[in-house]
Amino acid sequence: MTQKQIAVVGGGVVGVCTAYFLAQAGHEVSVIERHQNVAQEASFAHAGIVSPGYSTPWTVPGMPRKILSHLFKSEAAVSVKPTFDRAMWRWVRRWLSEYELERYRINSERMQRMAYYSRDILRQLSEYYQLDYEQTRGVLQLLRTEKDRKLAEPALALLAENEVPHQVLDPEGVRAIEPALASNTPLAGGIYLPEDEAGNCPLFTKRLKQIAGTAGVQFHFTSTVRAIEPESRGVALQIDDGRYAADAVVIAAGIDSVGLLKALGIEVPIYPVKGYSATALIKNFDRAPQSALMDEAYKVAITRLGGRIRIAGTAELGARSDELRERALRTLVKVGGDWFPDAANYAQANFWCGTRPMLPDGPPLIGATPIRNVYVNIGHGSCGWAMAAGCGKALADIISGHAPDIDIDGLTMARYG
Ligand SMILES: Cc1cc2nc3c(=O)[nH]c(=O)nc-3n(C[C@H](O)[C@H](O)[C@H](O)COP(=O)(O)OP(=O)(O)OC[C@H]3O[C@@H](n4cnc5c(N)ncnc54)[C@H](O)[C@@H]3O)c2cc1C
Repeated sequence: MTQKQIAVVGGGVVGVCTAYFLAQAGHEVSVIERHQNVAQEASFAHAGIVSPGYSTPWTVPGMPRKILSHLFKSEAAVSVKPTFDRAMWRWVRRWLSEYELERYRINSERMQRMAYYSRDILRQLSEYYQLDYEQTRGVLQLLRTEKDRKLAEPALALLAENEVPHQVLDPEGVRAIEPALASNTPLAGGIYLPEDEAGNCPLFTKRLKQIAGTAGVQFHFTSTVRAIEPESRGVALQIDDGRYAADAVVIAAGIDSVGLLKALGIEVPIYPVKGYSATALIKNFDRAPQSALMDEAYKVAITRLGGRIRIAGTAELGARSDELRERALRTLVKVGGDWFPDAANYAQANFWCGTRPMLPDGPPLIGATPIRNVYVNIGHGSCGWAMAAGCGKALADIISGHAPDIDIDGLTMARYG
């Protein structure tokens, strides 16, 4: 293998994992990041769930009706900001075209292939370096009603078909796993994935940054890539007022990858889907969750991060600002209060919003682009943390001229023609 000089644009969890594996493969790597540290944008305060069994597209049949029913509720899983943004309506059209059982199965298989691989790689990293990033084991899906149970059927069928260890639980079974769950909130049952996990993504990313730094990766903070210019033998990056030459570049710039690629003549249908989180100190440990849960009715996750509890979710289409919208925060506080009312004071939580870089079909895009020496690791949507380690390793293999450990069919630019 020839050693290359590679620039990675973006110091989120995806960029840092990619840089680490490129350095492990013997390349000279620089990460260019506009903030002062890694994991400051989408990777910062999301739910933290690493659940391959739950890594499925949002295009589960039956979901459009549920979304419509939520549009006018005061607490809602999904909201659409009225906007004339043509990119949004183009994205919605493509997204709706994926709402078929067969498409759902194809997209889920692609996402889960990467997510299972990624979880194994994450565990290997965590064991090898003895990483502590507030991991918990097991993810419990809460099904409030019979309707939620029905909506979960396609996902359940996939779990059974793929022989993924899981338990379908009645309310008593759910409470045996999470004894502090409030008894007065309606509960029809649950699905438990004992092998899935959750953890603090920015803590992990910062540790991996240190490890990558020791392996020679250079981090350039407060540096913004303004343009990427392909050259005969490599690429040149316009960084603020300077120029940086490299043999190849990996674009891992989250939602801003769209603009960098567009300037190169490459259109990718990634759209920002805003989400929120509330993180509160646990005041009553006996009344707090043991590990991660997912409230299927509101598509809101509850995770335990050491001495804190995080409630994260909601999806807002058409909102591009950092504004913390009252309706979304109310939804998080409601879900926290519904399930673990005495665990924390949710009104005093730290609230955050971030942007999921979503493709309409679900799986991310990794690998080469039509432009030589320009690679991507983008579009991880709501599963970027769950897929970062695997996508980083697979892309480092591709750039090094090796076959990745898993089949990456359906995870490359080829699927958009
Ligand atoms: C509410 C919510 C809950 C979520 N829950 C989960 C979950 O439980 N599990 C899960 O797996 N995923 C979850 N996600 C999704 C996850 O947050 C993302 O998929 C993931 O963080 C994407 O990582 P990234 O590195 O691609 O992007 P980012 O973390 O956004 O990193 C991109 C980086 O690129 C930098 N950048 C951009 N443009 C430039 C430029 N021109 N020059 C220099 N730097 C640049 C940015 O500053 C940023 O640091 C959730 C997301 C949200 C919003």
